[in-house]
Amino acid sequence: MTVNSMDEIIQAITTHQNYCISTHTNPDGDAIGSQLGLAHMLEGLGKSVILVNRDPTPRIYRFLPGADRILQPADGRLSCDVFFIIDCSDQARVGNELFSSVQCRLTINIDHHITNQQFADINWVDKHSSSSSEMIYRLAGRLHVKVSPETADCLYTGIFMDTGSFRQSNTTSIVLKTVADLVELGANPSRVAHEIYEKQSPGRLRLLARVLNALELRLEGKMALVSVTRDMFNATGTTVEDIEEFVNYPRSIEGVKVSALLREEPVRGIKVSLRSRDSTDVASVASEFGGGGHQNAAGFYINGNLEDAKDCLEKAIRQLLNETQS
Ligand code: 5GP
Ligand code: MN
Repeated sequence: MTVNSMDEIIQAITTHQNYCISTHTNPDGDAIGSQLGLAHMLEGLGKSVILVNRDPTPRIYRFLPGADRILQPADGRLSCDVFFIIDCSDQARVGNELFSSVQCRLTINIDHHITNQQFADINWVDKHSSSSSEMIYRLAGRLHVKVSPETADCLYTGIFMDTGSFRQSNTTSIVLKTVADLVELGANPSRVAHEIYEKQSPGRLRLLARVLNALELRLEGKMALVSVTRDMFNATGTTVEDIEEFVNYPRSIEGVKVSALLREEPVRGIKVSLRSRDSTDVASVASEFGGGGHQNAAGFYINGNLEDAKDCLEKAIRQLLNETQS
């Protein structure tokens, strides 16, 4: 993190009135939580904010205050003074069409991905932060803005999801102090957990049953993979928003170092999600394939069919595990 960029962001917020905020395609909890948290904060300062994402908000995050205000891009252009892009490692992650449809004076990128490409006019990238939501909370402190209970719920949810419900190695003392603050400010952990984990659809559980039934172990049990095909979605009446967290099931098997979830995509081939433990760095594999992410959670696309993608991935993971051992 460079302190300058936070100062520049504060300067921009002091100067400008109209904002547009966007986050990445297929948004996750941190994407939506940080986007909404920033929006509430700016509005608390009397600013005008438009929220726009390429993809819809997954059902499990629609309880967050303000989620119903997030637009999908309509035809035509949006204009604002400042365009914030949150939790996105590169411009394509926002959606190229969306990115170029926003007319603005200034772009600001706030992110915690190690693979961030510093694509905006102002870039505040902190790979040591657990989440973009944690960074937005820090920004609130520097802006001396009062964090409302609504903002607190959004930022808490982002941190909760990007730390794997406080189980991953990015669950630092700073994270725990931050969420303690957020609870004091009105975030409600039991409600958030209930909304996210205890409102599942029967279709999602039926899809999970099919997905786990086709679990494969490779590389002497060090790699576990599952796949989601279009047929599985059709048979269970589910969509991509129902697979959140599925990739964590194969990682929970003893001895597994890398887990993968492969999903058939209509346009871009196979979407791969990787998860790992400790020092096994799956972001490096994702970068090789043109994707990105963090040491223990990363993703990318592979062209071609599912079986070829599995073999290609196995090769890359074998090499990664050999390098990690040495
Ligand atoms: P997921 O596997 O849940 O889609 O993503 C895990 C992490 O990798 C997230 O931090 C996400 O932003 C990043 N990620 C996933 N897919 C891509 C991708 O195609 N490109 C880039 N740059 N990052 C990705
Ligand atoms: Mn994030």
